[in-house]
Formats: sequence, structure tokens, C-alpha cells
Amino acid sequence: MRKFLSHHPLMSLIAMLLLTAACALGQAPKPAPAGTESARERAAPRFDIANIDKTADPCVDFYQYACGNWIKNNPIPGDQSSWESFGEVYEHNLVVLRQVLEKASANDPARSAVQQKIGDFYASCMDEAAANKAGYKPLQPELERIAAVKDKTQMIELMSHEQMLGPNPLMGFGAGPDLHNAEMTTAAIDQSGLSLPDRDYYLKDDAPTLAIRKAFVDHMKKLFSLIGQSPEQSAKSADTVLKIETELAKAYMERTLRRDPKNRDHKMSVAAAEALGPNFHLDRYFAASGAPAFTELNVGNPDFFKNVNAVIESTPLDAWKTYMTWQMVSNAAAWLSDDFVQEDFKFQQAITGQKELQVRWKRCVNATDGALGEALGQPYVDATFGVEGKQRMLKMVDALETALKRDITELPWMTETTKKEGLVKLAAIRNKIGYPDKWRDYSKLTIARGDLLGNIYRASEFETRRRLQKIGKPVDQLEWNMTPPTVNAYYSGSHNEIVFPAGILQPPFFDRTLDDSVNMGGIGLVIGHELTHGFDDQGRKFDPKGNLRDWWTAEDGKEFEKRASCVSDEYSSFTAVDDLKLNGKLTLGENTADNGGARIALMALHDLMAQAKQDPDKKIDGYTPDQRFFLGFGRVWCQNITPELSRMLVRVDPHSPGRWRVNGVVRNMPEFQKAFGCKAGQPMAPENACRVW
Ligand SMILES: [Zn+2]
Repeated sequence: MRKFLSHHPLMSLIAMLLLTAACALGQAPKPAPAGTESARERAAPRFDIANIDKTADPCVDFYQYACGNWIKNNPIPGDQSSWESFGEVYEHNLVVLRQVLEKASANDPARSAVQQKIGDFYASCMDEAAANKAGYKPLQPELERIAAVKDKTQMIELMSHEQMLGPNPLMGFGAGPDLHNAEMTTAAIDQSGLSLPDRDYYLKDDAPTLAIRKAFVDHMKKLFSLIGQSPEQSAKSADTVLKIETELAKAYMERTLRRDPKNRDHKMSVAAAEALGPNFHLDRYFAASGAPAFTELNVGNPDFFKNVNAVIESTPLDAWKTYMTWQMVSNAAAWLSDDFVQEDFKFQQAITGQKELQVRWKRCVNATDGALGEALGQPYVDATFGVEGKQRMLKMVDALETALKRDITELPWMTETTKKEGLVKLAAIRNKIGYPDKWRDYSKLTIARGDLLGNIYRASEFETRRRLQKIGKPVDQLEWNMTPPTVNAYYSGSHNEIVFPAGILQPPFFDRTLDDSVNMGGIGLVIGHELTHGFDDQGRKFDPKGNLRDWWTAEDGKEFEKRASCVSDEYSSFTAVDDLKLNGKLTLGENTADNGGARIALMALHDLMAQAKQDPDKKIDGYTPDQRFFLGFGRVWCQNITPELSRMLVRVDPHSPGRWRVNGVVRNMPEFQKAFGCKAGQPMAPENACRVW
């Protein structure tokens, strides 16, 4: 996944997900479309009943009813592979961020230290002429280091250096909360080293997968030729990389297995980890990283280290050097001269179906957010997020927590013992809203005007070192893992916290000009979704402190599994694209969170209405409050998506596509069926509905 999110702010989160148990709300905040000042850029994304397709029957296909006209009127922009509210909002954020960055990049001696960093980073990125003139020269020192490697121990040390700069050749190394002592940070190593988004791309032989593998080989050949290899040499190099990555892919643990934190829970001594795969020379790797010394660590997938050990031995050094060269070139391509940029994009196109490359300023805003997110976040927050927004959010979070408390208390299938533990966990959930109380200090990071790749490398190294320095230290509870402009939200099991960046607290998620019904269907449901993650198939395995500990009675655990497999089977019956079905096991946690979130958001709405003595039959625009709740929910997930991206996401994304995030939920809710007068047996009122929470 790394490669395909590498231009996105979510990239670091995805990396972090390997180490902690965090669940993002959506797949990725979307970068914006090409073209300047189009109508689409100016029009604020809003809830609007004009989006409704009144020719559709809400009881047959509610998604079509709620989104039909939106889908018709909002084709995918050329430089996107999907289009939905996340992208609409992020596009507005980009315009705000661009203004901030253009101001900061003016070479004004009165600039603050923060402005200097974000401004010079952005200015270096925007200098396309300099990038074109430099070709791949900025990358050459790294390629020379690879060429100079004499043996496999040196190779491992250089891989450790490279993982500081962005790519993760051969393995992943990081720091995160200890699964059994969540207040402390521990070192962790895990499977890594693939260029394609999933192991399946290397191991499956169906026609669409074969087509992508062929595009991958062509792409490698082209990039190798751009760094001066002959056609024969580049073909050989591409073949070498594919062989190595296929071996790594074979040793990968499948995504569905990785969902269970127990499968990634292997704490051991450094000596025991070294014994899994002596050829990894972990002692040298760790020393070269500059991480503080440690004696214990978590190994996410021990079999990976056992099995790849033999591959390290049997593969000649020169082949490994080709692989390392590939990893560095591929990682840097988007920031080199135009021939590299175009080739990099061409391959992304094969995977995602995106038609046009994003304009440069948007790529550069994204890169600045990725490199200096909490520096760029400060002026962003000043420009967009008021105290009032935070107060209203806190009130809604409170209403949702009250609703979930009642939901747990009244749950028909759970015993009192487990309920009591569940309520303790709920009470312990911390919430973070808008932006961090304490901003990250970038003062030790050097950003030099005119050194694009150098800035990217230094920022990456700064961030990696910052994380590694935490090993053996208490977890910093004030830290955020998304930047303020990010249009997303997350729950972290290890921190037992829900986090909502300022970026998502905007229409259509949260619109202070609209009624509570629509807002509860939007941001209210998002809050409920994140809270429910604390109790989904992954979250339920963590206790109030964030430790991996079973607090369920055996009987309740069994009942949970039974109910969860109802949801899993239900979503496995839904079609993503062509004949491709969703993977109900991969998407179980998100679907559970969507279903539970909708239920408690509606409960919270009814509480608010009762407090305000609001008439439950009073219509706005012809719709009752409950109907507007469901329409507000639908609006958030209206989506257009390329078939290529659908295919990729079915494999890698734990979230269901927009259609099923909406229809999958409402068909399980009697409240929906009542609100729209659906009859039992209609598609949105099936007899075999599922319920966990
Ligand atoms: Zn989620």
C-alpha cells in the first residue's frame, strides 16, 4: 500500500498501522483535481436534497435514492481515481493550504521559523525547471552508495539507512506502543519490501492481476533505462526485482490474518529475533539506524524472517543491489525530472485508472503536508477552525458516548460481567478534536531552498528518527497520527482514543447551518463509527488501557463471533465491481463500526430531539428528522470510482465501497425500514438482518 499512498498524508498512518491497532475512517484523503479555479473547486460540498434520485425506491436501493443525482452530476475528475465527499472537502483544504504556502514561500526575512520551513519546502517542490534540469542527479549519491556495497552485512546496514529516507527494502522497522504495556513504546520489526499494494499481485494469475504484473515489469524496465541501463540490462534488472519481491510476497502474512492483533503479537528478546533469521544481521541493522539500544522487541510476522532468511542467502549480492536500486529510484521518481514523473504516473494509472496527473502545486501541497504536517497545520487551523467548532464537537461526542453507554447496557445478548468491563472501556476512551495541544517541534530539521529531494529525505529521516527515539520511553499521549488538514478520523486500540482532525469537521460531514438530523447522520455517525471500533473484531481485544487482554466471558466472546460472522457473510455477498465480491473478513471491523455507529448516532439524535422537545414528525424539505438522518448519512458516502481502483481496494482496503457502506447499514436497521415505510422482504429490509452492537 505504501507506494500508492506515498503522495498522500495518510502514508505515515498506514506505516503506523502495522505497529499499532488504529482504524481510519476512510481509505485516503483525496488530493484535488487538475485545472485552476474550476466551478468544482469553488462549490462547497453540501448536503442538498437535489442530490436525491426520486425515481429510485429507497426500500429497493437506498444508496441510489440518496446519491443518484449526485453520482450523475459529479463525474470523477481527470486527476482522480475516485470521487466522494473526502475528496471534495480535501480539495477545499488544498486551496486554503496553497494560500498559506504561497505566503510562506515569499522570501521575506520577517518569516517565522515555521514559515521558513514550510515555505522553502514548498518553493523547492514548485521549482519544476530545476527538477527537470537535475534529471536524476539528486538521487545519484544514494545509487553510488549501493554500487559500493561489498558484502551482505554492508547491504543490510545500507538498507537500514534507506528505510530512514522513505522506502522499506526487505523489512520494516519502527516503534509503537507495547501490546501488553501500552504506556511504553517498544521496537517492532515486520514484513515489508514490496512495491505492489499486496502480496496477491505477485502470487495470483487471473487476467487483471497478470496485466498489472506486466505493467509493473514494463515500468521497472523504463525506470532502469532512465538511469542509464541498456535495454537488455534493464529487462534483466526488472526480472531480478520481480523475483525477489515474489519471494518476499510468499512470506507475507495475509491481510485477513493480520486483522487479529494476536497474530502480530510476538514479543521476544533481540537474540531470539536474530535467531529467526541470522542473515538479516539485525544487530547491524539496528545499530545503523541510530535507534536507542533495546533488549526486547515485537516481531509482527516471525515466519517472514524465518523464510526470507534463506532468500537472503541464495540470492546473489548483485541481485540485492539491483533490488535496492529499484526501491530508491521508485521512491524518488515522483520528485525527479519530468520523464521520471510521467513514468511514475503511468504506472499509477495502470493500478488506479486515474486519467491525468495532478497539477504540480497540488502535489507539492500534499508533499508539504506529508513532510511538515504539524508545521503546516498551525496556520491551517488558524485559518479554518474556531473555538466554537470544538465546543459543538465536544457536545456531539458526549451525546454519542451517552448513546453507546445505553446501547451496551441494553444489549440483549451480552452478560452483565462483560457489559461492566465494556462500560469501563468506554469511559476510558480519550478524544482529540481539531488539532494537537502540543505541536511537533521541527527546529532540528533543515529545509534548504532549492534542494527538493534533499528536503524530502531529511524530513523522512527526521520523522523516522523521532519515532525510533521513543523506544523504551513512555508513550506520548498528546501525540497525533494524522495532520490537522486531513479529511479522516481514527480510533487507536493501543491508545484507546478517538481522533478527529480539523479537516473533517466541515460540510458535508459537519455543517453548522443545518439541523441536528443531517449532522448526526454525518459527523455524528463518524463519531459513533470511531467509538464502535473500540468494540469491533480488533478493538474488543484491547482493554481500557490499550493492552491486548481478553476482558470477555467465553460465552459472550462466542456470541460476538457468531454475530460478527453474520456481518462478514452479509458483506461477502455484496459485489464491488463486475463479478468481484467484497471480502467480508477484511472489512469486518469497518462494517461493524458503520453499523454500530449508525445505531448510536440515531439514538443520540433522538436524545437531542427529546431534550429540545422537537416534534419527530416535523418535516424539513419534505423529510422527517429520521429520514434526514439517513439522507445525511448517504450523502457522506456518495461515490464515483474507477473499476481499476475498485479492484485494488477490494484486495487491500478494510473499508467497503460507498454503496455498501450505506446499503449494508440501512438494511440491518429496523429504524430505517420504519422511517421509509419499507416492507419485510424488500432489498433494504431483508429477513436475515445482522446486529452486533
Ligand atoms: Zn473505521
